[in-house]
Amino acid sequence: MSKAQEIIELFDQYVMPTYGRYPLVFTRGQGTRVWDADGREYLDFGGGIAVNVLGHAALADVLARQASLLVHCSNLYYTEPQGQLAKKLVELVGIPGKCFFCNSGGEANEALYKLARKFGHETGRYEILTFLNSFHGRTLAGISATGQDKVKKGFEPMVDGFRHVPFNDLDAVASAIGPKTAAILLEPIQGESGITPAKAEFLRGLRRLCDERGLLLMYDEVQCGIGRTGEFCAWRAIAPEVTPDAMSWAKGLAGGFPIGAIWTRKPYADLLGPGSHASTFGGTPLACAVALAVIEKLQKENLMTNARHLGAYFMDKLRAIPAVREVRGLGLMIGVDTDQENKPLITKMAAHGLLAVPAGTRTVRFLPPLNITRAEVDEALTKFTQALGDT
Ligand code: PLP
Repeated sequence: MSKAQEIIELFDQYVMPTYGRYPLVFTRGQGTRVWDADGREYLDFGGGIAVNVLGHAALADVLARQASLLVHCSNLYYTEPQGQLAKKLVELVGIPGKCFFCNSGGEANEALYKLARKFGHETGRYEILTFLNSFHGRTLAGISATGQDKVKKGFEPMVDGFRHVPFNDLDAVASAIGPKTAAILLEPIQGESGITPAKAEFLRGLRRLCDERGLLLMYDEVQCGIGRTGEFCAWRAIAPEVTPDAMSWAKGLAGGFPIGAIWTRKPYADLLGPGSHASTFGGTPLACAVALAVIEKLQKENLMTNARHLGAYFMDKLRAIPAVREVRGLGLMIGVDTDQENKPLITKMAAHGLLAVPAGTRTVRFLPPLNITRAEVDEALTKFTQALGDT
């Protein structure tokens, strides 16, 4: 039995079968490349689903340095990395506010739900409008917020207080707002369901509705944030003037080290007061030091500009491939619909040494590191075209 088969059998026996996995076993990575248990090399344009913004093995120094100082420290005390990261994130958003730290996207969105409930509590409002085909995580409130039936099936009843509205349909949102509505939550670019950006006019309309009706406008930037679109905040790449009241991050924030965070602007920044919300591991010095190092690299090496330019180049080239029906996205968050179903196509791509991830049933998602080169994009295009030609 090969080493890979051995490891797959371990999973079959001991790991709960919650994921539909490709039969690939990875052992190490460097930059944009990963190697499987048989030593085969792959170009990683899935990026761990928008997580590895600097590629692989890029954070060893900061991890070792901070691990030798202080890994974890209870939130009963103060640590400098958490304070510095909050300051950095507030500066990047560019609107006065404060942050809360946790460990994942689902958990970051939980903090948004609680913020919205606290905000609406005195006026008896608790409902959050979310969108059809959205994705907000796999916690119980996360699947309740998510506008896709497939994630809810078998786990009913859902958490009360979420209603789904068609995406990019302002009239539908206006008529859905009721006396219990406290907030609107959306992904500026819907990721899991197939890469669908919000229209600038839609975001403008949502802001107007939120102002008129006294609602919080909350952006889930777990997948589209952290520079992937060419802007640190994805909404800035769509409609820079449409500022949110709160937003969530995770995935790429520490380049692969687990972290989640929310930001909310003044005057809501102190709504979640002492004792109202917490996370044992939230904002550890290790996670925050790594996130600070990631942001420093994004800025110093102009990686957001790289994402914008190479994303535009990649999308242009993809559109020129005859089998490609549609290309959607911004920067290096790219969805490609072809004349083939996505999962078998992605399997063929892996056989050519190119990794990508599926979204919906037809879309191939490219979410590569933000420091990829033009040569790597060209190599990915060659491998993608070869896989499309395989029968
Ligand atoms: N929100 C969005 C937009 C996501 O894409 C995801 C994960 O794919 C989540 C939330 C959940 O994040 P996590 O898996 O870290 O809980």
